This record gives sequence, C-alpha cells and structure tokens, in this order.
Amino acid sequence: MEITVVGSGTVVPSLKRRQSCVVVRAGGETLAFDLGSGAVRGMLSAGIDPFAVDHIFFTHFHPDHTVDVVPLLFAINYGAREERTLPLHVSGPEPFVGFWGSVMEVWGAWMSGDYPTIVSELPKECHSPIDLAGCRLSWTPAEHRSESIAYRLDTDTGAFVYTGDTEYSESVVELARGADTLLIECSFPDDAPVPGHLTPSGVARIATESGVGRVVVTHLYPAVDTPSLPSDVGRGYDGEVLVAEDGMKFSV
Ligand SMILES: [Zn+2]
Ligand SMILES: [Zn+2]
Repeated sequence: MEITVVGSGTVVPSLKRRQSCVVVRAGGETLAFDLGSGAVRGMLSAGIDPFAVDHIFFTHFHPDHTVDVVPLLFAINYGAREERTLPLHVSGPEPFVGFWGSVMEVWGAWMSGDYPTIVSELPKECHSPIDLAGCRLSWTPAEHRSESIAYRLDTDTGAFVYTGDTEYSESVVELARGADTLLIECSFPDDAPVPGHLTPSGVARIATESGVGRVVVTHLYPAVDTPSLPSDVGRGYDGEVLVAEDGMKFSV
C-alpha cells in the first residue's frame, strides 16, 4: 500500500502545511482519511487524482478534518472531466449520520450526483473489520472528541495506523500493536501540553508500548514544529521517527 500525507497541519493557517488528510492506495482503490482544508488541492500537488477517491473515512468532525468534503463532492458533480458512475463510500464514527445529514442539508443539492453514495456510520468499537480491495480496515476509540476514532489498515505485506487527533490512549496502543508505520498526531510541545492532543513524549510512549517499526508525526502546531522534534520523540522511542511534510509518500 502506498501512503501519501496530503495535509500535515492544523487549524493554524500555514503555507507549509495543509489541514489533515492522508490518502492510501491499496488494491487499486483510493482511500482518503480526513479531508481538512486544502486537501483537494493537496492531492493534486501530490499527484493524486481527487476524482479517483473511492472511500472517505473521517476520524472526527472537527472542521480541520472534514471541510474539504464539500469542494470535493461539488467538484465531482460539476468539475470532473467525465460523469462519475463509480460509487463513493463516505464513512465516519457515530453519530456520523447526523453529521452528514447536517452537511447535506446545507450543501447537499450541489454535492449529490447520480452516482451511488454509500454513507456508513461506524460504531465506536470495531466488532468486525471491513474488507476493502487489498486491505482490511479496523478502528478503535481515540481520546479527543467523543466521536473520535483511529484507523488501522492491514495488508499481506504490513500494517499502517493513522490516529487522527488523540491524546494518550490504551485503545490506540492496542490498535497500533506491531504495525509497520504509525502516522500519529503530535500537536504540542511537552512543556505546553493541551488536553485531547499528544506531545513528543506521549507519541514516544504510544510508539514504544505498541512496538511499531516507524513513527511519522503529523498534525503539527507551530510550537512543536521545530528541528528538535525527531530527537524529542526519540528520547522515549528507539525506532525510526519521521516528521510529516505535505506530499510525503511512504510504502508499507
Ligand atoms: Zn480535532
Ligand atoms: Zn485536528
């Protein structure tokens, strides 16, 4: 599976970091996790066709993880080279149906096309993983908003985990157990923590306890986005530490 960090930023406007989005190509399908502001343009600049997205998965409903679903679906209807016929799957955690209904009430007339849109509300606990083309999706509650979940993708060759926003969470440790790559939020420095988010020492704790092979830190507020970030995480974690950049690609 090929993973592209489309947006590694936060609510803070930045020319360097778009808001949260990661795109995974697996089994010939395109999966988008979170669609913060700038995600659609970010896909273009990373060489990903936004019209090729088959599945959208949200970790939670904060605007910096969701708002670009509006321009994406508007573009599919009115800005695509050819009319879409393939289904689009849109999924998010409980109570996603209510969230989606509110979005559709405002923009739905311009966001709904003739192609099938399949809306799925995921229970907070994953009782049975979902089989997708070429991978298996599971998830677990994260510690951020009441609806927040983190996702894991397993293939024959390895596992990838994306936390969305979270603070330290035993369920996220369990989800990430033994994964090859953990894309994990790291919002604030250790001397200025904010509830609901991680700092470098919290990232290191989750990475060490779950035994992941590689950590990629994302969702970086300016105060933590310093040259010392990899070594700050590395003080509590022995594996490889990468700092996400918009457009960064890696394989699992
Ligand atoms: Zn959030
Ligand atoms: Zn966020």
